[in-house]
Amino acid sequence: MPNNKLVANQELHFFGDVCKNFDYAAQFTQHDSGLLDQIKSCNSVYRFRFPIRKGNHFEVIDAWRVEHSHHQSPTKGGIRYSEMVNEDEVMALAALMTYKCAIVNVPFGGAKGGIKINPQNYTLSELENITRRYTVELIKKNFIGPSIDVPAPDYGSGEREMGWIADTYATMNPGQLDAMGAVTGKPIALHGIAGRREATGRGVALAIRECVTIAEDMQKLGLTAGIAGKKVIVQGMGNVGYHSAKFLSEFGALIVGLCEFEGALYNADGLDVEAVFQHRKATGSILGYAGAKKEYKNPMLGLEQPCDILVPAALENQITINNIKNIQAKIICEGANGPTTPEAEAVFYKNGGIIIPDMYANAGGVTVSYFEWLKNLSHVAFGRMSRRFEENSNLNLVNMVEGITGLSLTSMQRSSIIKGASELELVNSGLEDTMIRSYHEIRETLHHNPKIDTLRTAAFVGAINKIAVSYQNLGVWP
Ligand code: NAD
Repeated sequence: MPNNKLVANQELHFFGDVCKNFDYAAQFTQHDSGLLDQIKSCNSVYRFRFPIRKGNHFEVIDAWRVEHSHHQSPTKGGIRYSEMVNEDEVMALAALMTYKCAIVNVPFGGAKGGIKINPQNYTLSELENITRRYTVELIKKNFIGPSIDVPAPDYGSGEREMGWIADTYATMNPGQLDAMGAVTGKPIALHGIAGRREATGRGVALAIRECVTIAEDMQKLGLTAGIAGKKVIVQGMGNVGYHSAKFLSEFGALIVGLCEFEGALYNADGLDVEAVFQHRKATGSILGYAGAKKEYKNPMLGLEQPCDILVPAALENQITINNIKNIQAKIICEGANGPTTPEAEAVFYKNGGIIIPDMYANAGGVTVSYFEWLKNLSHVAFGRMSRRFEENSNLNLVNMVEGITGLSLTSMQRSSIIKGASELELVNSGLEDTMIRSYHEIRETLHHNPKIDTLRTAAFVGAINKIAVSYQNLGVWP
């Protein structure tokens, strides 16, 4: 859980930054200015306060739910538990969700929630009270439901909180068959889906792998093609950061730096991600890990060490005009939402780098949330109906080929050909396909118009065009 005192820049310009990026991209589209304004605006902003009992006194909690766009239903987005959360931030994150869903072809509008608390300051039962009361407040205003608005985890929240939300929603909606589709990121035992926990980090790793595979683009950066041996620094060892680092190292990259709020580690020969994670779990800090060659008490120094790729996966506004000149990476892949300010991005591109933007890079979470929602609405796990049938067909085929050719496969070869796909394999393959296709869609937009100068602008242009078509199909716009 984060120490929120040390994180996040409190300046309230995140939504403005998202709109600035939108406006810049909008000039490369042909849409009516009113339609663009409709796409950009936050449709509904619900700000509320509710009391909870803490010890023998009451405390009033500030909370938000923002539904940015209703061009698709339901709306979708995580709930952030942080004492730094504010309305501007929730609006910005909701807007990013809209564009993100459009980029990866997930048929949702964008939304986001925020509860202004530091989870570390509350007992388990207080956190449960807060989460359940937050859910009740959303139910009262029709701001949650499988066809209305579907929350998910974000910074400071996870499966446990999503389980409480699902249970509260189901209790308040007796007999509603699709109640479990009112929230995603639930524990597997409570109608969650295999692979959701690690989906965002896996998506980040897939995005990077796809980007560095294209030799022509890597040549421009002075890098060789391929993920093997690429030096990576990851900021944040929470859900997104830890899984990004884990999958990147499984793909063959070298994790040379890891940063948390208490400090940073560096080793040019590579760090063992799992060992650092376990060390932090045991001691409460990444500092003191024996396999690091350098340690920094100031975590921001960790971002400035030599590497090919930097993955900010903690919070927004981490790479700014103040530190961009010290960043040595050639590629920034945004695991977090909004980690790079527009001014810093301009400098980074001018210096010859590229940024894989948040709206695409961290879309793995919402992609697998979409699969979870589909599973909840269909009331059957992926693969359940077809797995045995597939295995029997494959077995017949293998037997026939062996009979005709006289070849005999080893038992390992037989089982790898025959095996039907599990839910996890189907989820991972759907995620991989989504991340690869979407990257090429963005890259094509970038190359199609020489005036489009960044992957972010290309991603925005694609998203704006898709959302505009939805409005036109709804008959809302001529
Ligand atoms: P998390 O709470 O699991 O982890 C965040 C981690 O960042 C914590 O370990 C925290 O200690 C660390 N951190 C905070 N400030 C830091 C600093 N200054 N330097 C280094 N580390 C710091 O949250 P998460 O779910 O991993 O989310 C991280 C980011 O990814 C957020 O921007 C979130 O909006 C975005 N995101 C998350 C998901 C998801 O599925 N969880 C999906 C898309 C985007």
